[in-house]
Amino acid sequence: MTFQDFKFHSDVAAGIAGAGYAEPTPIQAQAIPVVMAGRDVMGLAQTGTGKTAAFALPILHRLRSGPRGRVRALVVAPTRELAEQINDSFATLGAHTGLRSVTIYGGVGMNPQVERLRRGTDIVVACPGRLLDHIGQGTISLAHLEVLVLDEADQMFDMGFLPDIRRILRAVPKTRQTLLFSATMPEAIRALAGEALTDPATVQVDRVAPAVTVSHALYPVEQHLKTALLMRLLEHTDTESVLIFTRTKHRAKRLDEQLQKAGYRAASLQGNLSQNRRQAALDGFRDGSFQILVATDIAARGIDVSQISHVINYDIPDTAEAYIHRIGRTGRAARSGDAFTLVTGEDTAMVRTIEKVLGKPLQRRHLDGFDYSVPAPRKDTEFARTPRQPQVRRAKPAPAAAAPSVPASDAAKPANKRRRFKRNGARSGQSR
Ligand code: AMP
Repeated sequence: MTFQDFKFHSDVAAGIAGAGYAEPTPIQAQAIPVVMAGRDVMGLAQTGTGKTAAFALPILHRLRSGPRGRVRALVVAPTRELAEQINDSFATLGAHTGLRSVTIYGGVGMNPQVERLRRGTDIVVACPGRLLDHIGQGTISLAHLEVLVLDEADQMFDMGFLPDIRRILRAVPKTRQTLLFSATMPEAIRALAGEALTDPATVQVDRVAPAVTVSHALYPVEQHLKTALLMRLLEHTDTESVLIFTRTKHRAKRLDEQLQKAGYRAASLQGNLSQNRRQAALDGFRDGSFQILVATDIAARGIDVSQISHVINYDIPDTAEAYIHRIGRTGRAARSGDAFTLVTGEDTAMVRTIEKVLGKPLQRRHLDGFDYSVPAPRKDTEFARTPRQPQVRRAKPAPAAAAPSVPASDAAKPANKRRRFKRNGARSGQSR
């Protein structure tokens, strides 16, 4: 299948060429014809599959004809970062259409958004809360809406947005095309789909299969040695940009500080940051001024840095879905990436769950030359403490001896030789 098969208007085809897309991804190949036919769609796809273009391209094609300056397409997304990325996709893919798109989200001034809406737009990409503010104040008119997209519906559910989504559904015309995308299908999303979609076509790309180019490895280690092991891994691994996940905001901040002390150009994303600082950290990560970003799952939502070479789970996530979601940020669009997970004995049950979902065992690695025998400090610091007891039966930890031993320099040998991680030897400008 090629993009020509969809018979997009030449202005849209020019946008695809401009974005450098050679051929449709599987979700695009499945979804675009159905969306073009005007059907409602339930799309099961995670980030990194090309799902944005799967809805953006047919929307641009549809909106290309018809009146300009009215909101005819609305995309609702869980986070500002995702909203900005979707907006960027519309800008790139729609560069030759003359269609306008604006973002609407909280944490920034209302007035510039009101002004942009007043000047007229064809597409709105919004987070639920602020969108409802505009609806409530009458600063947005959705009377001419033709297409509604609910993106990352499961994330919106996790973040408690479902009541807001239902309010939004009541505020848009009944006759419309609705596309709902979700990486997973919990009961709450099934119910939402039942309310929002009419006779939907379901399109699905491997529900939980991560990008094939990602290589996964587990590093069994005791809790109090995690930071030391992480430092050794970074020293011995060729990395471009690394996204590190921790279980809590506090741990993200502490780890960021420790990395900076060790001379890394690092930043952390925590819920407490102002929108400006958050944006500065994200921009710095995107343009390479920060090589390491430490974040929690919530803070990292929507991050799409296509050149992420490594995702490191400093703490294992709570669910297999979250694992897939995290590592979906590396190895995008056929780039190779590595996903390392530091695991303690407490994580054995979750490791099993992840392996079951992935359908294969994950490789255990042992870093040669690293002193695994350093005892825990007598008085545990908060950081060294296990953040949370998992809600699972404790299983016997995998014996460390089962882990194949690899020389430190080979611990994370990438398929293609990458730039070795540079340390700048000094604390550097963190955006706080
Ligand atoms: P998404 O899942 O929409 O976040 O897209 C993931 C990444 O894949 C983004 O960086 C897109 O620009 C890129 N992408 C989307 N469609 C294609 C395509 N057909 N060919 C190559 N890259 C694509």
